[in-house]
Amino acid sequence: MAPMKRWLVLLLLIFGVSRVYAYELVLPKEKKSTVTTDYAFFVGRAHNGEAILINDARVYTASNGAFAHSVKLKEGENRVVVRSNFNTQIYRICKSPSKIQKAETVEEFEQRAGIVKNDNVPLRSTPENYGLNRIAHLFRGTSVLINGSKGEFYRVFLSKDKSAWIAKREVDFVETSSAAAFINMDGKRFKNAAVQVISFTKNLPYTVEEREKEVIFKVYNPELSDTSVYTLNIPKPEKYTYKVSLEDGVYTFKVSELPADIKDYTVIIDAGHGGSERGAIGCLGDEEKNINLRIALELQKHLKDLGINTVMTRECDGNISLGDRVKIAKANNANIFVSIHLNSIGDIPMNIHKNKGTSVYYFNPNSKALAEIVEKRVSKSAGTKKDGTRTAAFYVIIPPEYVGILVEAAYMTNPMDSVLYRTDNFAKNIANGIAESIVEFINK
Ligand SMILES: [Zn+2]
Repeated sequence: MAPMKRWLVLLLLIFGVSRVYAYELVLPKEKKSTVTTDYAFFVGRAHNGEAILINDARVYTASNGAFAHSVKLKEGENRVVVRSNFNTQIYRICKSPSKIQKAETVEEFEQRAGIVKNDNVPLRSTPENYGLNRIAHLFRGTSVLINGSKGEFYRVFLSKDKSAWIAKREVDFVETSSAAAFINMDGKRFKNAAVQVISFTKNLPYTVEEREKEVIFKVYNPELSDTSVYTLNIPKPEKYTYKVSLEDGVYTFKVSELPADIKDYTVIIDAGHGGSERGAIGCLGDEEKNINLRIALELQKHLKDLGINTVMTRECDGNISLGDRVKIAKANNANIFVSIHLNSIGDIPMNIHKNKGTSVYYFNPNSKALAEIVEKRVSKSAGTKKDGTRTAAFYVIIPPEYVGILVEAAYMTNPMDSVLYRTDNFAKNIANGIAESIVEFINK
């Protein structure tokens, strides 16, 4: 080859190789976008120690090249330049003004009777679609008295001291309605459960309150009088679950003690997402659903070795709805439900030192103890940062029939966590931490 040509080939080679090794971005997905969020996230992977600058700020990259960075957006057009020695990419992000919520007031009206259209309808303490304001889950066919509305919600009149809120779409109004008559009440005590049954001539609304030593169920009959409230106090053991059922005006409230023997437990293992629902995407392009499943399979192995009965909501990469996951748990009389996920950034400034590690969520007070043990043990066994134990109304952990927790093992979008969750032992370490926690919880 002539010297000139040789140089050309060499240049082409360098150019080609450098292009292959330039950084890749997982987020944002598009070069041009319109958002209403306050921050834009730049998540991706650098190669061979490539230095990444985003709007001239040097970005931290983990040993595997993973990086994550947030840019605060101003209203209107934002130009973000992502560059390294090998490549420069320009992102245009338009922040449209966030919708200003008009302050709505409560509209008062004459009491009207209605019927709840579906099962499992949240009765809320405030007129907002906010997870933790649920005070009960009403059954289809429950009679309610409505005397006001605000936004998407109707106000439900329960007694002179108590009102609650229900989504408008869940209620049908009825023309005529008469008060329910009380039929009878009966209490039974079993070795591991206490049951109270109360019967009326129609389905009435109820609420639940958990106190330190008891669970208080109340049934309201506001059409009879505004003081017509039936209160059932059922003592609760230290480790318990409870169940409410309603059929033809007959409420059954059951508070059960969890089994003492590990061999009497059924644990539902729920690998989050699956199939077309990939979950969060990591800096290096990893999909959350796959890591969730790996952890779930390891957990199943470990619990089986301990003699605990396990049921998986999915064992391969397929779609399964949240409703079906809960159905599986109830059909198998689950005692414990463990949902496995990895976290991602929300609409908060990304802080790689803060938004990392293991957090555990629960909804019912009966699940708090297990959540705390899991956070402590998993962070130890997997070497993750303790990111907290929090309450949240994730669908699969709402039913009080089992102790339910949702584990966010690590952050998909945290560069340092990405080094951890890509190691061979990560799934096993997380699973071991969860399994040891379940044993500690049962034997406590
Ligand atoms: Zn998830």
